[in-house]
Amino acid sequence: MIIVILGTPGSGKGTQARRLAERGNIIQLSTGDMLRAEVARGSDLGLKVKKIMESGDLVSDDIILDMIAERIGRDDCRNGFILDGFPRTTPQAEALDGMLAERGLTIDHVFELETDDDILVERISGRFTCAACGALYHDRLNPPRVTEVCDECGGATFNRRADDNAETVRQRLLAYHEQTAPVLAYYHDKGALRGIDGMAGIDQVTGQLNEITG
Ligand code: ADP
Ligand code: ZN
Repeated sequence: MIIVILGTPGSGKGTQARRLAERGNIIQLSTGDMLRAEVARGSDLGLKVKKIMESGDLVSDDIILDMIAERIGRDDCRNGFILDGFPRTTPQAEALDGMLAERGLTIDHVFELETDDDILVERISGRFTCAACGALYHDRLNPPRVTEVCDECGGATFNRRADDNAETVRQRLLAYHEQTAPVLAYYHDKGALRGIDGMAGIDQVTGQLNEITG
C-alpha cells in the first residue's frame, strides 16, 4: 500500500503516519526526518540544508527527489510506504507519479489532515520526540504516561526540533500555503484527495484513517 499524508506543520502527519505504518506493516518515509538525520550526521547534504530548514523554507526539489528515488527503491519499501512531508510542491508530486509509474506502482490513498492555522503554533511549540525510538509527544496535549520516560521504549532522552519555534513555524506555514496548496489541488483534480478532520483528537483521527485504509 502507498499512502501520501498532506497537512500543515503540526497537523499531525508524523503521529498518524507512524501509526499507519505500524498497523499496515509498511515503512514511514518522512523527508523531514531524513533531512534531520543528514544534519545530525553532518554530511555534505546535511550542511547544505541546515540553514534552509532552520529558516522554515523548503529544500530544493532536486535534493528531495534524489533522496526519495533512492529510498523507495530499497527492499524494505517492497510492502509499501507512507510518505509524510512529501510531495510538498507540484514538481515533486509530478516526479513522484513518474517514479511510481516506472515501477508499475500507484498511490492508494492521499489524505489531507485539515486544521486551523491558529492552533498550530501551540501544537508545534510543545512537541518533542524520543531520541531512541522516535515516538512523538507534546508537553500538554500528549505527554508520556510517566514524566520523561518514553511509553514505547522506556527511553529517557528526548529531542526538540531546532525549527519548532514560533517564528520559523510562521515561515513554514507560509511555505505550505504558497507551495504545498497547489499539491492539494493536484490530487483533488485527480479525484484522489481525501480530507480528514485534523482538529479531532489523535485517536479519533487514527480511527478515521484506519477505517478508510481497511
Ligand atoms: P513540518 O511538516 O512540521 O514542517 P518536516 O519534518 O516535514 O516538518 O520538514 C521540516 C523541514 O524540512 C521543512 O521546513 C523543509 O525545510 C524541509 N523539507 C522536508 N520535506 C521537504 C520536501 N518534501 N520538500 C522541501 N523541503 C522539505
Ligand atoms: Zn522511545
